Amino acid sequence: MIRAALWLFVGVASLVLVCVCAEENAQDERDVPPGVNHADHLENDSTGAQILSVVIRGVADRKKFEEIRKEIYLDVLTTSKWAVDILVQKSSLDYTKHLLKSADLEFKVLIEDIQKQMEAENPPESKESLSRSSLRGHGLTFDRYHSVDTMYQYMEYLNRTYSDFVKLEDIGTTAEGRTLRVLYISSGQPNRKAIWIDGGIHAREWVASAAVLWVLSELTEKRERLPEEMRELDFVVMPMVNPDGYEYTRARRSTRLWRKNRAPVSSACAGVDVNRNFEHGWGGHGTSGEACRDTYRGPRPASERETQAIVNYAAKNIPKIQGFLTFHCYGQYILYPWGYDKILPEDHADLQRVGEIAAQRIKEVGDVNYTVGSSANLLYPAAGGSDDWAKSKGVKYAYTVELRGPGYPGGLNSFFLPPEQIIPSGRDAFEIVRTVAEAIVLQPS
Ligand SMILES: [Zn+2]
Repeated sequence: MIRAALWLFVGVASLVLVCVCAEENAQDERDVPPGVNHADHLENDSTGAQILSVVIRGVADRKKFEEIRKEIYLDVLTTSKWAVDILVQKSSLDYTKHLLKSADLEFKVLIEDIQKQMEAENPPESKESLSRSSLRGHGLTFDRYHSVDTMYQYMEYLNRTYSDFVKLEDIGTTAEGRTLRVLYISSGQPNRKAIWIDGGIHAREWVASAAVLWVLSELTEKRERLPEEMRELDFVVMPMVNPDGYEYTRARRSTRLWRKNRAPVSSACAGVDVNRNFEHGWGGHGTSGEACRDTYRGPRPASERETQAIVNYAAKNIPKIQGFLTFHCYGQYILYPWGYDKILPEDHADLQRVGEIAAQRIKEVGDVNYTVGSSANLLYPAAGGSDDWAKSKGVKYAYTVELRGPGYPGGLNSFFLPPEQIIPSGRDAFEIVRTVAEAIVLQPS
């Protein structure tokens, strides 16, 4: 009796305390209390908060999960065909686990203590490393996550040092006044085909930008070591699509899991999910019309400065651009369109084949498994993504890549990927870029 009363108390408390947050697949438009920006996810002190991955073995499990959601608010971070990852504050942990167990839903603890994970995520820079950086002419390293300023300093350094084949271009400004930048890497030959590479469209996915910067360093500083097919192409690299959002996730621990940009969209909430803001299929499945949601699609297609910058720049360079690779985390997926619905493009067999070759190479180099498939079929339908937009404009090899996450050797993880995984993630990204380059060079034009 006392036990039952205790559960009831914890249950009621969790209703009050659990952050009512948006989810990737925002089909459930539950009302949320006004005045709270639910996409923050974390509290000031998240000691003991965990990320649980609930195993979904089929329709029955999905149904049971939805039943629990009717009972308590669950903060869903990501969802796929096989699992739903939820963030649970310490205050409601016992009750949530109890409900999952009672429903016979299997779950794994991905992150034991979010606070501890955040503290270990980015160790302070050593004096030695700082003095080395002044010798190098930039502060970028691959053993920690850096500020947007340091990323841009590195891009300026490359522009200065390799001015014969590298060109820095400013392609827009964000709502908070930060510059949006790309580096154009030329093959030195006129009329070459090109690959677009970007990262960081979702603020909390830190390793996406770090891995793209690693690829950038290979494409420039190690140019003489590149395989032949890569030297035949041009590249456009945008390591940081969403600098306002990224700096917001760095500003304080309570906002580490912010996903959107920081555009002032309503009096209650800020931010648009830039990867739901592209024109193709805009407003469809997996998007929200409510400004406080993580998947808020914005007031109209391409309303956001980040979207406009990409669309304007890339459109100028299509049909030259034949590969469009946008890096995210996590989950180890190589995904191709369509994302807006469970339908496939005509040339899906080519996209599947090239994706599988890349996955095989990553397995050989990094000993991790990437799953290949269309976004809507493998994860969930989500409209207004940049890869769908690129594909709709005729870019053949358009992929969204979800980098390392749960299951990489050595432990389970999520958005909090330890910095020692930056270079291995960069290597994964590089194998995908290389494979797509090869497919473009070899394909009959
Ligand atoms: Zn993402």
